[in-house]
Amino acid sequence: MSNLEEKVALVTGGTGGIGAAICIDLAKRGAKVATNYRNKEKAEEWQKEVKAQGYDIAIYQVDVTDTEGCQEMIKQIEADLGPVDILVNNAGITKDTTLKKMTREKWDDVININLNGMFNVTQPVVEGMTDRGWGRIVNIASVNGQKGQIGQTNYTTTKAGMHGFTMSLAQEVARKGVTVNTVSPGYIATEMVMAVPEEIREKIIAQIPAGRLGNVEEVAAMVSFLCSEEAGFTTGANFAMNGGQHMH
Ligand code: NAP
Repeated sequence: MSNLEEKVALVTGGTGGIGAAICIDLAKRGAKVATNYRNKEKAEEWQKEVKAQGYDIAIYQVDVTDTEGCQEMIKQIEADLGPVDILVNNAGITKDTTLKKMTREKWDDVININLNGMFNVTQPVVEGMTDRGWGRIVNIASVNGQKGQIGQTNYTTTKAGMHGFTMSLAQEVARKGVTVNTVSPGYIATEMVMAVPEEIREKIIAQIPAGRLGNVEEVAAMVSFLCSEEAGFTTGANFAMNGGQHMH
């Protein structure tokens, strides 16, 4: 795979489990990487840890639900690192409950962060990418957006919606050298999933033909491929990474 030297990458939610692996993989391949965060203490601690491993990741305190804040962040990244060539929309949350018990607040929170957040960050970078004739956008959705999941009407709406956005934007920018793709991970061994009691985790794993959880490095490697030169003809696609748990 070609390296990503000279490319500037923004990964939203890079201080979390999957986002951190994506930041590191892109940095390993030579990209200048930036991420945003809400929790300052956690982000500064994380930045120190990755610096000790040899990776310089720029961090910006911006909530993805803040439209103007996202526009300012993009301007600041462009001033600090250069124009954004690669965007990975990874920031996301769950607030699970059945629809019967779903409060309007839980519905709105998940829609605002997972879907409106993607709009807020993507819109300010697209024009620059098309003007320069090169860009890569990768949206991190979920297997549950492909198959549905009890207790996740809010989350699965956003994850299925992310792929609708991918397909439409991919068509809008395809002739300008910009690709837009979705990656839909299944169960990945992040802190959140590892915190699930072992017997429940074992039941989940029993439903995965591969017989194990995925790991964050596998997701990151797929994202880096989609950001490479070689992936230039790959656009509007949804890449399932779920160990065979859901096929279609
Ligand atoms: P995570 O560890 O909880 O990380 C989520 C990241 O998103 C954190 O860095 C968090 O930053 C950031 N974030 C959340 N809300 C934000 C907001 N309003 N503004 C800015 N940043 C915000 O989650 P993860 O497991 O790595 O998941 C990453 C993505 O993969 C999510 O979109 C998730 O839906 C998707 N996914 C995960 C799995 C899995 O098995 N883990 C499976 C399928 C899909 P702060 O901590 O600073 O708030």
